Amino acid sequence: MITVGEHDALGEYNPEAYVDIVADRVREGGYAAVIFAATGLGKDLAPRVAAKLDVPLATDVTAVEAVGGSITVTAPAVDSSTWRVRVVERKAASEGAVDVTEASIVVSGGRGMKEPENWTLLEGLRDAIGSDVALGASRAVVDAGWRPHGEQVGQTGKTVAPKLYFAVGISGAIQHLAGMRTAKTIVAINRDADAPIFSVADYGIVGDLFEVVPRLAEEIAALKAGD
Ligand code: FAD
Repeated sequence: MITVGEHDALGEYNPEAYVDIVADRVREGGYAAVIFAATGLGKDLAPRVAAKLDVPLATDVTAVEAVGGSITVTAPAVDSSTWRVRVVERKAASEGAVDVTEASIVVSGGRGMKEPENWTLLEGLRDAIGSDVALGASRAVVDAGWRPHGEQVGQTGKTVAPKLYFAVGISGAIQHLAGMRTAKTIVAINRDADAPIFSVADYGIVGDLFEVVPRLAEEIAALKAGD
């Protein structure tokens, strides 16, 4: 059987609303297991529902089989006046940009970039390297609104496994490492020699990214010009 919760206020994902509705439904249904898709929404909602219900969470399940089923439509009670989070705007990903999960090389920036305008540095590095390069980001900068969520790498973002991953001004929190530690080669640029990102890096540059990144882009461009 399939149950659909329908309400005008639920058109956009809102964790505060969804977690209560799903948790209530699970309690009412007395289910033994609740399955979420491994999408951005599922990865965000599942741990919230598990915490609300005080039950264990299993992640990265690769196969589930459903047999038969009918659909029941319900109208859940929703009081949107108490919501602290709402979707105010949707922005499409920039046309022609390579998706961070598909690129061979990812150039990611973190809070060390200081402000969104400084992404021109990472774009310069990306352009010097050439094609099949995507820009990535830490959650800190996505939460700050500096970069779109589609670029977020990590536990609640995308999981990437490129040939080469640049972590620029990213500390290397465990939730970020969860999304990129399987990259074949990791290059970290950070002015803090003790930053955790260096524990997974194949190459580490301890220095000011505002000096290192332009020089790196120049050197790569010069090497490519000499090809
Ligand atoms: P910071 O930790 O602030 O690090 C900035 C780094 O920049 C520092 O290491 C600093 O030394 C360096 N720096 C500063 N200035 C310079 C300079 N001039 N030159 C060189 N280096 C410089 N995070 C993710 O990334 N992805 C996720 O999917 C994710 N999911 C999460 C899920 C949960 C449930 C929670 C609780 C957290 C999650 N986080 C995630 C957040 C994570 O814990 C960190 O807060 C986040 O990754 C930190 O981002 P950052 O490295 O950009 O910033």
